[in-house]
Amino acid sequence: MSDRKSIYYDFGVSPVINAAGTKTRIGGSLIRPEAVEAMHAAAESFVVLSDLQSAASRLISELTGAEAGYVTSGAGAGMMLAGAAVLARDDFSVMSRLPDTTGIPDEIVMPRTHRTGYDHAFRAAGGEIVDIGTNDYHLGTGSTNVEPWELEEAITEETAAVGYVEKPYTQPELSVVADIAHEHDTPVIVDAAAELPPTANFSRFIEQGADLVVFSGGKAIRGPQTTGIVAGRQELIESMALQNLDMHIADELWDPPELLSDTDLSSGVPRQGIGRPLKVGKEELSGLLRALELFVEEDQEKQRQRWLRRAEYLDDQLSGIDGLDPHIDCTKESIAPEVVVAIDADVVGSTATELARTLRDGDPRVFVGSDRLHCEEIVLNTMCLEDDQVDYVLDRIVTAIDADYDATTAGFAV
Ligand SMILES: *Cc1c(COP(=O)(O)O)cnc(C)c1O
Repeated sequence: MSDRKSIYYDFGVSPVINAAGTKTRIGGSLIRPEAVEAMHAAAESFVVLSDLQSAASRLISELTGAEAGYVTSGAGAGMMLAGAAVLARDDFSVMSRLPDTTGIPDEIVMPRTHRTGYDHAFRAAGGEIVDIGTNDYHLGTGSTNVEPWELEEAITEETAAVGYVEKPYTQPELSVVADIAHEHDTPVIVDAAAELPPTANFSRFIEQGADLVVFSGGKAIRGPQTTGIVAGRQELIESMALQNLDMHIADELWDPPELLSDTDLSSGVPRQGIGRPLKVGKEELSGLLRALELFVEEDQEKQRQRWLRRAEYLDDQLSGIDGLDPHIDCTKESIAPEVVVAIDADVVGSTATELARTLRDGDPRVFVGSDRLHCEEIVLNTMCLEDDQVDYVLDRIVTAIDADYDATTAGFAV
């Protein structure tokens, strides 16, 4: 298999066969070869980074219908810069003192069920998260998590923004939240990091009222791992740019980029902002732009069929094995079809967790989805698998549980 010559062996580390989907800790997605070529080419000459960001803004704006766009060093970084933008707006003095928010509105209101480990980014910028509502729906103790009036009530003079995490099942709907927020002149930041495909989502959340929407560049777009995209209102994007770009500038020589066309620079140039540690290089910017161009041209249905064929093969092969009960879950639109495999520990001799552990210990290692281990299920996501890795995954499972499996079958044929 191709992984025998993986570069990671050069560093004494064994590579991973990814049947878990786009998980950052095992490398996210595989960057498109054309994006790697773009990064190579970008490495051969210099460019004014803010000019490249201006070009990125035009492309992102075209794709999303938003006024402007910006490339960040990941969706997480995009959330932090979005936080910095809603806190400082166009005020250079606030930009120079964040995360100190003394005297300015700094609350970011979020439904409690939208809280994630990623919202650290808002707090890192200086925001204070005020969460509202309950977790009733998830727990089965009530039919809703948050009511519109609770949001209405929580937005006060201290509010800088509303934070929202987009999933097909998040409540309340974005348009409802945006309407309430906008009545109070409060911007809405939407974390839609993993909500691609479908590409229709590029514009959907903007249409529903998002003031800033954040996507990851290193998931389905298959750009560089350390990229993200923010699309949204010109004024807020400019604030993000001012707080992220390198600002060691001789005033007299500076041609402000197109991206900063609405910023009043008559009093001078702002100081280096809180976002400066989240820098994006010319190589990542170029790689992301190329990946983005290709992602929107891609035939998403064909891609999905490719993922589905791998899933159907795995489902079919595993269903013949005692103690395994697989089925295909196609319900998540933004995620590849997944094979959910129920494990009967009494029959196969190991629990779902033990099996996942054993698969990880081989060389190359196999990572499977682990979000359902508590239900005694492993999940095989075929989005990040290569066609020539499908049989290896199958073989490792069969070997791990010592299954009676007829290996004379033809194998996965593309
Ligand atoms: C992946 C993800 C992020 C972080 O994206 P990066 O590009 O890795 O920074 C943030 N929020 C959600 C919901 C995600 O799924």
